[in-house]
Amino acid sequence: MLNIDLTGKVALVTGSTRGIGRAIAGTLAECGAKVAVVGRDRAKAEAVAEEIGEARGFACDVTVPADVTMLVQEVEEKFGSLDILVNNAGITRDNLMLRMKDDDWDAVMDANLRSAFVAIRAASRGMMKRRWGRIVNITSVVGLMWNKGQANYAASKAGLVGLTKSVAKELASRNILCNAVAPGFIETDMTAAMTAEARAAMSGEIPLERLGAPVDVAHAVAFLSSDLAAYVTGQVLVVDGGLAM
Ligand code: NDP
Repeated sequence: MLNIDLTGKVALVTGSTRGIGRAIAGTLAECGAKVAVVGRDRAKAEAVAEEIGEARGFACDVTVPADVTMLVQEVEEKFGSLDILVNNAGITRDNLMLRMKDDDWDAVMDANLRSAFVAIRAASRGMMKRRWGRIVNITSVVGLMWNKGQANYAASKAGLVGLTKSVAKELASRNILCNAVAPGFIETDMTAAMTAEARAAMSGEIPLERLGAPVDVAHAVAFLSSDLAAYVTGQVLVVDGGLAM
């Protein structure tokens, strides 16, 4: 049990049906927040919501801007508020830049970057009225270190850093904090496709000598969502076992 109190707060976590988002949703609920669990499939989102406590499941494809705006409105209506927004949903469509299709570029930018902008724009109105808000964007060490075969992903994650800092400056006077968390290699479906060899090679590059667990990222998000982080905004908290050092 974390010693972080989010009682009375409402959190929305995109892409929380599995992986890192699932761990973030569970951790925020453990800290006392009411949580909106979001994925493309309502049944999956509702199943996760049932498991984690005071939570509800919502279906939303974050690549559709109008749906993201409606999701924020729906969460505010059903829970009466929206205090913590975690933009976690993300995808990869890896290929070497010369072979990368326009569609692969657009799909990654829409899912990873535009979705966060649209959600922040929608959620910040209520946060401004209430003079309290926490926005956490899940970027990646790839957005800070770059990677071959991930031009689209790296650009989207670096873009999230720019978005985070701009929003932090715009909303600071309303007591809305906007930060990013940059995970390294975390054990999820996204990294499950790696061969044992690739995993061993990767672990060898990590000073803490292991891949991270989703909950390692969730703990950083819980901190940034809480009053413990009241004087922290526009920052990127790297959670990578020392990889990007
Ligand atoms: P997973 O692939 O395990 O899970 C992705 C989540 O995003 C799922 O809940 C999925 O829900 C949801 N999602 C994907 N596309 C959409 C969409 N269009 N609309 C709504 N939801 C969507 O990913 P991870 O948990 O590994 O990654 C989570 C975040 O962390 C991503 O932003 C990723 O870039 C970032 N990250 C991950 C790292 C890692 O090593 N795993 C490292 C650094 C950053 P569903 O399929 O049910 O719709």
